[in-house]
Amino acid sequence: MGLSFELSPEQAAIRGTCRDFAIQVVAPQAAEWDRRQEFPYPVVAQMAELGVFGLPYPESVGGAGADFVSYLLALEEIARADASLAITLEAAVSLGIAPIFFFGTAEQQQHYLPELCAGRKLWAFGLTEPEAGSDAGGTKTRARRDGKEWVIDGSKCFITNSGTDISAGVTLTAITAEKDGRKRISAILVERGTPGYEVGAAYHKLGWHASDTRELTFAGCRVPEANLLGKEGGGLGQFFKALEAGRVAIAALAVGLAQACLDASLGYAQERRQFGRPISHFQATQLKLADMETQIELSRLMVWRAGALIDQNRPAGKFAAMAKLHASETATWCANQAIQIHGGAGFMEDLPVARYYRDVKINEIGEGTSEVQRLIIASHLLGLGGSVSKLLDQTPS
Ligand SMILES: Cc1cc2nc3c(=O)[nH]c(=O)nc-3n(C[C@H](O)[C@H](O)[C@H](O)COP(=O)(O)OP(=O)(O)OC[C@H]3O[C@@H](n4cnc5c(N)ncnc54)[C@H](O)[C@@H]3O)c2cc1C
Repeated sequence: MGLSFELSPEQAAIRGTCRDFAIQVVAPQAAEWDRRQEFPYPVVAQMAELGVFGLPYPESVGGAGADFVSYLLALEEIARADASLAITLEAAVSLGIAPIFFFGTAEQQQHYLPELCAGRKLWAFGLTEPEAGSDAGGTKTRARRDGKEWVIDGSKCFITNSGTDISAGVTLTAITAEKDGRKRISAILVERGTPGYEVGAAYHKLGWHASDTRELTFAGCRVPEANLLGKEGGGLGQFFKALEAGRVAIAALAVGLAQACLDASLGYAQERRQFGRPISHFQATQLKLADMETQIELSRLMVWRAGALIDQNRPAGKFAAMAKLHASETATWCANQAIQIHGGAGFMEDLPVARYYRDVKINEIGEGTSEVQRLIIASHLLGLGGSVSKLLDQTPS
């Protein structure tokens, strides 16, 4: 039996549905949402109707019961039309739902997942803090026990899907104990509207204008002790597990955006004439297009490989990091090539490539920077299980 790269009929159908939706509904409106910096509620609701928010989760929790690769295909197609809408979906599925699905009790799952999988509500992932970015263990947010409650104080920054009209809450990391200088960091579910839970103003971002990103602050915010997610002290491990699959999803999003850059470049290169012929007749343009196609196909294969490992429940950490690293850097490079092929017109906001150029960079930063992905890969190579902190412990500062 040879190695098959064919999609199953179900996967192909999901890709087709999302492609049609992206072309017919998303693409015609994406520039306007970007210009207005507007979260597109009606289209998020339409996307929810497709069932994509619960795509890789079982029907028992309100999901669609598809595989992880199907979700990656959906993300690629949506990102090809609008990276902002794609990150709204990715953050909801990979960061909002995944921790509750993997570590929640049956009660927590039944309470939260049906609405989240239906896309009627969004849940956020609160890891990053002003002083804890790549070094997520640098968390300063604290949760102390008081009777049968946790009292949370601290803040989280750059949190996606945290302030829309349908944002219902956040899973955050907080220090719940400290002994001999070692912090125990736990994950806690906090519902929006809890007294002491403040949602900040939307950030003014370089790209992803139609997605929602905000700061969250917690001052004496009390939640029931039953809101602990998983084991006390297990918070970082849980968040890292969610991020591992999330990175493959970000890589799929990057592939979609890179493909959009190639689509636009191919079209423009055949229309735009200079020196009496289309610029696609110049070898300098042809080589750029060929390199874009090659790098995009390589990225897509890496995404599918990592996605297949996740579906098979096999270790995927190194492959997820490599897929994210390669796909995000490829997408940035493709956006640069696309502007170059469009010449001065590419620098104008009238064409979508300017938006692609602004939207692309964040893929090399969010859910772990390119540097962090390289550290994870090196840590796997050196037998340290993908742990960046173990790798850095070996390195004198
Ligand atoms: C639009 C947007 C949405 C986001 N959404 C979320 C979200 O929903 N939830 C959430 O928790 N977070 C979110 N984030 C945060 C994101 O994950 C972080 O920005 C990212 O992990 C990097 O952290 P930092 O910004 O603090 O950068 P820093 O960690 O300060 O890094 C700065 C630079 O130093 C480099 N660096 C750091 N440490 C090392 C090292 N050991 N070796 C080599 N280089 C190093 C980095 O690679 C980077 O180039 C979002 C960010 C943005 C911009």
